[in-house]
Amino acid sequence: MPTDSSNQKHHFETDAVRTQTERTQHREHSTPLFMTSSFVFESAEQARALFADEVPGNIYTRFSNPNNNEFVEKVCRMEGADDGVATASGMSAIFTSFMALLKQGDHIIASRSVFGSTHQILTQILPRYGISFDYADIANPSEWESKFKANTKMVFIETPSNPALDIIDLEWLGGLCKKKNVIFNVDNCFCTPYLQTPIQYGADISIHSATKFMDGQGRTIGGIIVGKEDLIKEIRFYARHSGPSMSPFNSWVLSKSLETLAVRMERHCQSALALAEFLESHPEVELVKYPFLPSHPQHDLAKKQMRLGGGVVTFEVKGGIERGRKFLDSLEWFSHSANLGDSRTIATHPASTTHSKLKEEERLAVGITPGLIRISVGLEHIEDIKTEITRALEKSR
Ligand SMILES: *Cc1c(COP(=O)(O)O)cnc(C)c1O
Repeated sequence: MPTDSSNQKHHFETDAVRTQTERTQHREHSTPLFMTSSFVFESAEQARALFADEVPGNIYTRFSNPNNNEFVEKVCRMEGADDGVATASGMSAIFTSFMALLKQGDHIIASRSVFGSTHQILTQILPRYGISFDYADIANPSEWESKFKANTKMVFIETPSNPALDIIDLEWLGGLCKKKNVIFNVDNCFCTPYLQTPIQYGADISIHSATKFMDGQGRTIGGIIVGKEDLIKEIRFYARHSGPSMSPFNSWVLSKSLETLAVRMERHCQSALALAEFLESHPEVELVKYPFLPSHPQHDLAKKQMRLGGGVVTFEVKGGIERGRKFLDSLEWFSHSANLGDSRTIATHPASTTHSKLKEEERLAVGITPGLIRISVGLEHIEDIKTEITRALEKSR
């Protein structure tokens, strides 16, 4: 229950561990895994009522499953959303939100430097269905209003942006979307609902790749869409019949991961801030970007809409693209991977990997300078993290 008998709303941490998921006759304390593709009917009448949506209940795991329901219930409470749908990956969540809510002839405004596969959907897949898009610059709010067209139906953003960590004012953009009567869709994966709740600022939909900080230990691929009831109804219809459903095993894992989300995010963010401060004073480092550093150009805005600064720090190592690659080869135990949001610290050099397909000017337009390094700060001890970075900076000189 979201409230107790005194009608007091529970806090985030309590909602993360307490749900109403049914138990079997064994009365498990921890939610069991319901690894079943279908559910049996009690009677012909109950079967009819279930299919007619007259009574709640599970029919078939593509439609719903107790583990998926529990995961969705937790994220909805954390985000302040009416309802949600769990999907097989973050990308299937994003794609499903587009396909369920848009039609031929519609137009999307998206923040430039969205996740790579989102860029591919916008540029390669949606045009086949007659859905067009324009990018707007997250660091330049003045250009957003001019991007709206008569057929604009959705604004889709990531804030902070990846990897440049630029921020857009959710409350302002939420107001603009409301005025223009378009769906405001936020990919909130970088923050998790512990750090940022876009719906509070006017977003209609909040989407996550649960693969990242929600899982937090690099085990599963998953996604979730939460938001306003009427939109989720459309999304549920589309998902039920097109089938991007999450596996109950993954939602079982993810629902348990959410129990520790608050404590993990506190530590990720505490260590990320400490690392950002350390890097800012390092002579081999040109520039450090972290939302909760006072030097971040949108520091006040970050403080307004984010609880903490996030688990990702980016910095520019002196010496350009060559030095950036040498830095990565000089690391001893950080993982060199394109992922983020893991208990293990991960280092990425976007210019030579995730964003290597862009032209140099396109990279610069989204803040990816040649020596930019992205660190997803893990749960190792901060002193060990600093030592590893110091050593790699020295060795790569
Ligand atoms: C990883 C990621 C996605 C895609 O999620 P998958 O679970 O890998 O499909 C989408 N958006 C952002 C911001 C991401 O980091």
